[in-house]
Amino acid sequence: ENGIPRPHIAVMPTPGMGHLIPFAEFAKLLVDRHHFTVTIIGFSEFTNEAQEAFLDGLPYSITSVLLPPVSLSDLPADARLETRISVATARSVPAIRSVLQQIQETRRLVAYIADLFGTDGFDAAKDVGVPQYVFIPTNFLFLTLMLELPALDSVMAGEFRELADPVRLPGFVPIPGPDILDPLQDRRNESYRWVLHNASRYREAEGIMVNTFVEIEPEAAKLLTAEENGWPAVYPVGPLIRGGGAAPHEGAVESLKWLEKQPVESVLFVSFGSGGTLSPEQTTEVALGLEASGQRFLWVVRSPSEKDSSAAYFTGRSGGGDPLSQLPEGFLQRTKEVGMVVPSWAPQIDVLASAATGGFLTHCGWNSTLESVVHGVPMIAWPLFAEQRMNAVSLVEGVKVALRPAASDDGMVDREEIARVVRELMEGEEGREIRRRVKGLKEAAAAALEEKGSSAEAIAELAKKWKSSATA
Ligand code: UDP
Repeated sequence: ENGIPRPHIAVMPTPGMGHLIPFAEFAKLLVDRHHFTVTIIGFSEFTNEAQEAFLDGLPYSITSVLLPPVSLSDLPADARLETRISVATARSVPAIRSVLQQIQETRRLVAYIADLFGTDGFDAAKDVGVPQYVFIPTNFLFLTLMLELPALDSVMAGEFRELADPVRLPGFVPIPGPDILDPLQDRRNESYRWVLHNASRYREAEGIMVNTFVEIEPEAAKLLTAEENGWPAVYPVGPLIRGGGAAPHEGAVESLKWLEKQPVESVLFVSFGSGGTLSPEQTTEVALGLEASGQRFLWVVRSPSEKDSSAAYFTGRSGGGDPLSQLPEGFLQRTKEVGMVVPSWAPQIDVLASAATGGFLTHCGWNSTLESVVHGVPMIAWPLFAEQRMNAVSLVEGVKVALRPAASDDGMVDREEIARVVRELMEGEEGREIRRRVKGLKEAAAAALEEKGSSAEAIAELAKKWKSSATA
């Protein structure tokens, strides 16, 4: 571009493929549509082989560097992920600074983009004179909670889960206290302080990008993107999801072949994300509920875990052993005409894109939610951890594109209730309405990233701002 070097962006996603993918997709749009180059900065101690392979496979305008590991051995063994990420970021500031300085030797660095719990990286960007931004791989609901958190914290006496009234976040249906973000559920835990700390720093950002689109959170979109609302500029840049047909995985071919033979919109896809696990009792109820529903299903079964619903998040492994051997006696035999069960992992995007898929029982991870909406698949909301319970409330009661089964007091959902919601989604009146609405959202999602779409325009605005920035 007329001798002016291509503008360069440094982004720092925090661990997990669910973060890496939307950051990478955002980077690709900046490269393809606006001729930027990008460096992805990662933590070596949190980056596994699959993630390294993913980074290596990105287009050459997107390079990656891993920071030298920092010691977290002084943290208590049970320190939560939010604490680990925040502390690792704070301790990595000098290393981030030297990466940014190195970039500046050869490139025109115009922005530093932190992930949701990585705002201490701002200090490194400030030291080298680069404006700071936040990229939220989830949604406006999460962002609104973060923006409101410092005020909520100063007036709240007890815990969120003890609040008599639901939490009212501007632009959203009321959220029951127990459904608020996991790490905020225990105010004495370090993770609460770290989330609050990050939330307080959002105001320092020049802008906040969010992996969402206007129509899925319309009221909040209006409020957050209004001029002069006292918050940093907010940009909806989604839905950023990974393209389908990616690396074939074990079981992938077989499940897709099976799907091809099923009638249109007849199959319920059941999956709890990259790491979600159920207890042994709950796994049994899901099996018998699916069977009782009489509907076709494709179920990604993971070995049950007694305690931790995110047991497999980093390792991809949960309770251990062959997941299929832990299903109820005779279940596989009895359901073989209507059901397909795959251990641990399915090619989710391809499954959701299949004409045979008519519903998705999901843990409401935001990537899964966007993937479902982009393919027009109505959902059953079965949240497990992180911000998934808030997402479920918004999807069920806000935009109304999902049904939520009722749990008993101990949190279990029994087989009768599972069979009921599955039938309702696949065949019922309410299911039909939900399907109709999600098809509408599908159109809106596609339009958002097309030329002149709301998300495409937001990205173009950012690109323009960054290109004209004085930073040399
Ligand atoms: N995924 C997949 N196959 C599986 C489970 C998950 O391809 O069997 C992908 C899914 O398509 C999504 C991501 O893993 O892109 C899960 O991200 P999400 O935010 O939904 O949940 P998380 O794994 O972070 O809990």
